[in-house]
This record gives sequence, C-alpha cells and structure tokens, in this order.
Amino acid sequence: MKTEFRPEALADPVMAGSEAIIRKCVHCGFCTATCPTYVLLGDELDSPRGRIYLIKDMLERERVPTPEIVKHVDRCLSCLSCMTTCPSGVNYMHLVDHARIYIEARFKRPLRERLIRAMLAWTLPHPARFRAALALARLGRLGLPLFNRINALRPLAAMLALAPARLPPPADDSNALVAGARGRVALLRGCAEPVLRPEFRQAAVRLLNRAGYDVLLAPGEGCCGALIHHMGRETDSLDAARRNVDAWQRLIADGGLDAVLVTASGCGTTIKDYGFMLRDDPQYAAPAAAVSALARDISEFLAKIDLPAGQPRALTVAYHAACSLQHGQKVTEAPKRLLTRAGYDVRTPAEAHLCCGSAGTYNILQPEIAGRLGDRKVANLERLRPDVIATGNIGCAMQIGQRTGIPVVHIVELLDWAAGGPMPDTLSSLSTD
Ligand code: SF4
Ligand code: SF4
Repeated sequence: MKTEFRPEALADPVMAGSEAIIRKCVHCGFCTATCPTYVLLGDELDSPRGRIYLIKDMLERERVPTPEIVKHVDRCLSCLSCMTTCPSGVNYMHLVDHARIYIEARFKRPLRERLIRAMLAWTLPHPARFRAALALARLGRLGLPLFNRINALRPLAAMLALAPARLPPPADDSNALVAGARGRVALLRGCAEPVLRPEFRQAAVRLLNRAGYDVLLAPGEGCCGALIHHMGRETDSLDAARRNVDAWQRLIADGGLDAVLVTASGCGTTIKDYGFMLRDDPQYAAPAAAVSALARDISEFLAKIDLPAGQPRALTVAYHAACSLQHGQKVTEAPKRLLTRAGYDVRTPAEAHLCCGSAGTYNILQPEIAGRLGDRKVANLERLRPDVIATGNIGCAMQIGQRTGIPVVHIVELLDWAAGGPMPDTLSSLSTD
C-alpha cells in the first residue's frame, strides 16, 4: 500500500514501524473472510483491511482520532485471525497496538467509558482487588436485569454476569520442587486465572513435577500487562513488562531457567512480545528479548518433553483453540496431540479459527458482539456432543463456560488426570472409568 507520511513523522521509530507494516498490505482482502467482526457485521470498516485504511489515514495525517475511527478500532478483538490468513505477512498486531496507544493519548472518551476502563485497569491486573471486586459483584448481580435494560450500563451487566456464583479459595503461591529435578521452569501466576480457576495452575504444577521439573513462582512477578496493553495504556503495560522481566531475570541469574511457562495463552502472546515492546529501552531491550525467547505456552513445552504414561480416559473432548494460541503464537497441533496421546477422543469444532468473543476485556467493553460470538462458538462446540470442552486460556473458559452446561476445563487438567492426577472437580458429574 502506498503511503505518504511526512519524513519528520517517520523520524519516530514507532511511526516508521507502522508505516512499514502498512506498506506490506496489498489490499487483497483475503483477511476479511476470517475476521469475526466482518463475518458478523459485514462492514468493510470492521474488517482488517478496512481498519488498516482507517489507521493509515489517522497516522499518516497525524489526525486527532474521530469517534468513527475509535469505534471500528475498539470493535477489533485483537484475535489476530487476520495475521494467520494474510499472505503478505502484515503484522496487524503491532499496527493495532500502536493505533490503540495513539487513540488513548489523543481521544477523550465519554465519561462512562473512561470510568469503566479505569475501573477495569485498576482491578483486573491485581488478584486481591479482582477477588474483592468479584465478591462485590455477587451482590451487584441483583441489579443485572436493570443494568441489562439500560444501554449505558450494559458493560457493567456483562462484567457482573461473568462473576462466578462461588469463588474458589486462593491458589497456593509456593514453589513446587522435586527431588533430583531434571530442570527448572518459572510459571506465570497470572491475575484473573488464579482467582477464577486456581485448579488450572495446580494441575500444571503437578504435571510438571511428575515430569521432573522444579516449578518456581518468581517473587515480584505480576500481571503480564496484556489487559491494559490492549486498552492502549502504554506506560502501565511497559511497567508491567519491566517488572516481570526483572523478576524472571533474577531467577535466571540464580540458577537458570529452562522456560517461562504460561497457562493462559492470552498472557503468553504478550510475554513473547516483551522483546518487541521494550526494544527501544536501552536497559531492558536485551533482558526482555531473553525472557521472550524463554516464554512457552504450557502445551508447547509439554509436547517437547516425555510425559509419564498414564491411564487413558474414555471421554470425547471438544478442543477450543484460543485465538492467542492459534493465531498469536501459532501453536495449533500441540494441545490436540497431547490430548490424543493421553487417550482422549479429540474433536475440533467448525469455525475453529473464529474468536469466542472473550478477548481480554472485550466481552465487557463490547458485550453485544462478544455475546454473539460466544453463542456461535458454543453452538459449534455443542454440535460435537462432547463430554468436556478443553481450552488453554482462562478468558475463553469463562466466556464459553457461561453459555453451556458442558464442563469446560484447561487441557492441563485432562493431561494431569490421565497421568495419575485427580479428576477435575468440574467433571464430577460425569460417569467415567
Ligand atoms: S490479507 Fe494481508 S495484504 Fe491482504 S488486505 Fe488483509 S492485511 Fe492486507
Ligand atoms: S484482529 Fe481479529 S477482529 Fe481484529 S481485524 Fe484482525 S481478524 Fe478482525
């Protein structure tokens, strides 16, 4: 695509990077067919190509973002399906990340939106605050019918609907060491996952210990920054990245690490991008790149090591591929291979490439589109008549679990169970051998 940026504007390396991305786009439109918002809304401006044109116009003319541009960029799920489809290698992720930062710095959102976004940024990345917010939300559920009727309050209603009726006890926060370990890995604690489904991490730890790995939870590590990064809050997300790079670098210096493992693929995609996010920071560029090089989704890591043989379970598993895993990290086969090798009958739904609508805070900020995508995803999964749905991302597990009676688990729970661990609590109603 031809561009006409001012040479002075291109002196900014971030702007120059975006211009290089835009120039790669040959506006063929292949990406439109696999973009969830285009599939639902049929509007070119809600397709990747349309958004690239809008972002190009905004950056090239150095314009103050208009409500129209903001609307279409906000509607993007950052699912990155377009990057899988694009034959020209357009890095839409880095382009839309830049657009969100540009918008956040120059566009004044209506007060209601600013308040909701500020509240999400203040609570979600902090497990203690998030836990307290969920406890309050249980009371707020009484107001759900009213909030659902008032358009301006629908994001609040979406948030309350996501709050589970009962909160599990907090996850154990200690290292898990094994005698004669063959290696050691750091495991990201995460922010939402340990509050909502602490059993995901517990299963991962048991499995890794059984495979002979010490599992370390780095002191000082916190939220990966993905949630706020996708809201365009650059300073806060870079601070989160630096804090985590420091935390894992201390472990690397103190005995080394085989990998930095992540059980929430949304977080994994961001941690793998730390090297890019901090590329212009002279102090952090190299250590961040080293951390990104060590980052692995748990399924990627498990597929490369010898898992102890276990007992196969006669269950049909519908595998839901999180966008952050299949499109963001290009990890497509490892989860299915692991589940099949463990003895499960693994099935893949139609439209597996389409997002379930979770997408970080998207199901709160864009509840209508997210709801339609969630219903569509669940219909495709239920058509497989599975005993259980397995995924690799907490956001997807919550979004799908809210819409179906079929139990939703993390793939590590099924692998752990097959390898001798306990049956996941969520499967207690199934009759299994
Ligand atoms: S598929 Fe790639 S090159 Fe074609 S329009 Fe989409 S982003 Fe541009
Ligand atoms: S990231 Fe997803 S929603 Fe956004 S333009 Fe690409 S395919 Fe569409």
